[in-house]
Amino acid sequence: MTKRVRLRKELSRQRAALLTSWNLSLAPLSERALYADPADQASSDFGHDLAIQVRTRVIVRLKRIEHALRLVQTKHYGRCRRCRKAIPYARLAVQPDTRFCISCLQFMESER
Ligand SMILES: [Zn+2]
Repeated sequence: MTKRVRLRKELSRQRAALLTSWNLSLAPLSERALYADPADQASSDFGHDLAIQVRTRVIVRLKRIEHALRLVQTKHYGRCRRCRKAIPYARLAVQPDTRFCISCLQFMESER
């Protein structure tokens, strides 16, 4: 199996895991709505906000993975979007949807 095929499989696996956690994140929310207790409204709102935050994160991650899955078929995959250098395989293996190399990421974080 080539590295690229391995990365593509890893991307598919992560996408499946995200979709599973997405489905799980939907269930508790509807249950909370069913058994909503006015006295418990504050904490339930907090739980609701948290659930939405988690979902937003899942969507962002899913979009990145979908994009990487399309990109992995092309020669552009595995290249840093900022410096255009090849991202080391060790980094891609851990986070196959990454778009930047370590040095660019550190640079951008220091800019923030
Ligand atoms: Zn870079």
